Amino acid sequence: MKNLNCRNCGGTMVIDPSGTTARCPYCKSDYVLDHRDTDYYREFYARMKSFFRLSADGQERRRRADDLWAQAEQEMFECSDGRQINVTSLHRFTDRVMTAYTARQSVIFRFEESLAENADKFRKAVSMLDYPSADTRNLANFFPIISGGFTLRDGSVLLAVKKSEDEYPLRLFGTLSGRHTAWLVGRMENLCCVMEYSSIVHPDFGIDTIYIDPYDHQASLYGGWWNAVRNHTTVSGRVLTTRDNLKALRETAAQVLGFPSAAAAKETADIPKPFADFLKSEPESNAYDDFAKWDEVLIKSYGERKFITMDTDDAQIYGKGT
Ligand SMILES: [Zn+2]
Repeated sequence: MKNLNCRNCGGTMVIDPSGTTARCPYCKSDYVLDHRDTDYYREFYARMKSFFRLSADGQERRRRADDLWAQAEQEMFECSDGRQINVTSLHRFTDRVMTAYTARQSVIFRFEESLAENADKFRKAVSMLDYPSADTRNLANFFPIISGGFTLRDGSVLLAVKKSEDEYPLRLFGTLSGRHTAWLVGRMENLCCVMEYSSIVHPDFGIDTIYIDPYDHQASLYGGWWNAVRNHTTVSGRVLTTRDNLKALRETAAQVLGFPSAAAAKETADIPKPFADFLKSEPESNAYDDFAKWDEVLIKSYGERKFITMDTDDAQIYGKGT
């Protein structure tokens, strides 16, 4: 996907899910995109979303991925020991702390020298993750597995996290339908349950830190771990709790549906009232209860039969009706 740079400070702009506005993460400038750019991003999002509708076999997936990766950008980094690392990325996302590159088999985070301590914070936070002993869903696959770390010649640090080839940042899909978002909410509740179990608050939980696999209907939380803290930690005078993860879940779902905030969610032809009400609601006291509440909302929103079969074959149920 092509990058746009801020006219004010040169930073890489973050494109809104509607494809109409861009925001600079550094100087906070907002821009309305011109028609050409808006068309480009909408087309890109539509293409990513088309992956949902296919229960593509391996070969077809590969062909689509090759096609997509033909537009990837390359960047060369030189390590302190002289080795060169060539990063081919489909998408680049920059915030105040780092730049994240979406490569084919990994997400690569680059921290400038003055911010390199965040790479250690990332490792430390990930090591706090804990999984129930009866982990039948292989939950660890949906959280970072660090595959490498490198110090570059300029003092900056690269951290590589594994991902599967068909996982892409949630932002690359633009806005999603009610049914697709309902699927995503279930997966995000799952991620929040693991963080509840591990007593972790992830303040950056959202559209730029969550990666989804549109074929297998999975969601992983790979980014933002340098800011993760233990439950009940005070940050900038505010006590963070795992309920903040559940608030972020609601904001993320609302954003993906095209609402400016969870508070602004409302019933539409595509979004049943119980779903909109859930997004506006205060989270339950913990992720397990919140997930149970979501299960009820899902039945009220889309019916019992779909709920029962959801776990066995999401692709069939949620691949239709878009
Ligand atoms: Zn700027």
